Amino acid sequence: MNEKHVKVLIIGSGPAGLTAAIYAARSGLEPLVIEGMQPGGQLTITTEVENYPGFPDGIMGPELMQITKAQAERFGTRFIFDQVTEVRLNSRPFTALTESHGEITADALILATGASARLLGLPSETELMGHGVSACATCDGFFFRDKELVVVGGGDTAIEEAVFLTKFATKVTVVHRRDELRASKIMQQRAFDNPKIHFEWNSVVTEILGTKENGVTGVRLEDTKSGEQRDYHTDGVFVAIGHQPNTAIVAGKIDMDNVGYIRTVPGTARTSVEGVWACGDAQDAVYRQAVTAAGTGCMAAIEAERWLAEQGVE
Ligand code: NDP
Repeated sequence: MNEKHVKVLIIGSGPAGLTAAIYAARSGLEPLVIEGMQPGGQLTITTEVENYPGFPDGIMGPELMQITKAQAERFGTRFIFDQVTEVRLNSRPFTALTESHGEITADALILATGASARLLGLPSETELMGHGVSACATCDGFFFRDKELVVVGGGDTAIEEAVFLTKFATKVTVVHRRDELRASKIMQQRAFDNPKIHFEWNSVVTEILGTKENGVTGVRLEDTKSGEQRDYHTDGVFVAIGHQPNTAIVAGKIDMDNVGYIRTVPGTARTSVEGVWACGDAQDAVYRQAVTAAGTGCMAAIEAERWLAEQGVE
């Protein structure tokens, strides 16, 4: 790409960024999408997506992102495979510094950088991801009907996922590294009252047992007090130790909460910086769904288009 100035720059290529691109492109704004190191975002690491409207038989996550990208390209969106290392928001046009394409300036900026599930960092976790290991109960819980499951974590996400998973599983064991949950009291009570939920306190998962072919068969637990190791049967593992929004490039330059989620003006995709919008998981600690990401991506593009028209950029 030779062009160094664009009307609309979209950083991120998950459902939020791609939907923003479809809308901005159909408005004739010829947006540029910087795809990031994981083009397509978190959906590209899931298997089947069954809850995205319009696909009654489900669709594979990577395919959903591929066809959404094709839809954005059809209307004139340009894509570059690159990583933004820094953005400058103190004057307009805004500037994005990239690893391979130098500086790119933009009249309007849409941040769709998403979030990443925090993982345990075990080799067996990487190997069995999508084969019995998941970081999203809403996405994958359905595949574990009448099975036994382990949820790792002690915060609101872990408890919410554990409660949700009892709809399908016969038994859900929450493995937590301390003997006290971090989750809010109301969520804790909900878990304690649920007869399907069990707890393994003061325990960490040191290995996930199983194979890609046959799925997960158990976890190896270590007692954090005694150091004792033991194997625990399970058919699946949900890692719920938090998400981290990918917002480091705008840290200190835009209003965000203490976790790093970008704050938007309620009911809009506007951020604290005029001319900059945020959509998808980078600003959503609550829903974190592909369809809500797409919805906020649409909002960001419509708002950007209207604002650019007011600025005389058509
Ligand atoms: P949190 O950071 O609140 O909790 C993470 C949990 O994972 C903690 O219990 C932590 O243990 C544990 N953990 C972290 N790292 C490891 C590790 N390496 N090994 C084992 N355990 C680990 O993240 P959540 O995603 O639960 O929540 C994020 C935010 O979103 C919170 O503010 C939460 O309140 C909010 N939220 C609200 C919901 C709601 O209100 N319905 C639903 C979901 C989230 P430890 O406790 O020892 O630190």
